[in-house]
Amino acid sequence: MIVFKKAADLIAYLTSKKAEGEIIHFVPTMGALHQGHQSLVSLAKKASGITVCSIFVNPTQFNDTKDFEKYPITIAEDIEALDEVGCDVLFLPSVDEIYPKGTKQQATFDFGYLETVLEGAHRPGHFKGVGQVVARLLEIVAPDKMYLGQKDYQQCMVLKKLLELIGKKETIQIITAPTIREADGLAMSSRNRRLSIPQRTLAGLLYQCLISIQAKQHNESFDIVKKECLDLLKSKNLEPEYIALVHADTLEILHEFDAAIPMVALIASKVGEVRLIDNLLLNP
Ligand code: AMP
Repeated sequence: MIVFKKAADLIAYLTSKKAEGEIIHFVPTMGALHQGHQSLVSLAKKASGITVCSIFVNPTQFNDTKDFEKYPITIAEDIEALDEVGCDVLFLPSVDEIYPKGTKQQATFDFGYLETVLEGAHRPGHFKGVGQVVARLLEIVAPDKMYLGQKDYQQCMVLKKLLELIGKKETIQIITAPTIREADGLAMSSRNRRLSIPQRTLAGLLYQCLISIQAKQHNESFDIVKKECLDLLKSKNLEPEYIALVHADTLEILHEFDAAIPMVALIASKVGEVRLIDNLLLNP
């Protein structure tokens, strides 16, 4: 795997590869890699071409300074994890390389409704930061395909919108990959490393809630199932931020199950100091 730290060097390398007719696959990450990230690289590697992974902990998308400061950084292990799945290129830029004019000087995108609900409502400014960094990474990597995890459902929708806003909808294809889970169903996440052993056990309840929503969708009202889940989480001292049912294509908030439309259930909860999110398609 070739590691690039400078945008100009990566651009020169990829330009030569594109001239040779190579397709560029791109997997943006914030590092502390796990099997979820590896699954995206493996998916990209199934097609021919050059697979580029980026690791950049983007300061502009953290609305909580503590979360940013405590974000795990494990570069040596990440390089091993990427080598294991045959990643071709790692882009490991500094903040200055991504934001040469400073973090405050970035273009901001208007994602409309998509940034006002769920994660957008609970993490003000988060999607503006995500938009800034991904727009910049796309400018540098200029991929044909970008691989995203369904784990961050709302982020996938925001980034589809970003492609529209930057006029790249026709040239960059987004490929969304399924959420990779631990044995108890907990969605793999870089933040899981920050959980104590008892917290790690309790964190499995997030998935249990989603499974119970999915199982009860045909014979219970959403409000009742939601309350059962919130009560369960609170009884174990977790701090749920939201449990929501939305239209899978639009993120429109639904108040009741409706088998006629595609639905996704989403959950966000603090487990101790660590904030976790997850989701499940109810009628895929
Ligand atoms: P992150 O490093 O958390 O910014 O994630 C980088 C990419 O990996 C995003 O597209 C995430 O949605 C994806 N990802 C994170 N966790 C998982 C997982 N458990 N399964 C599949 N993809 C994931």
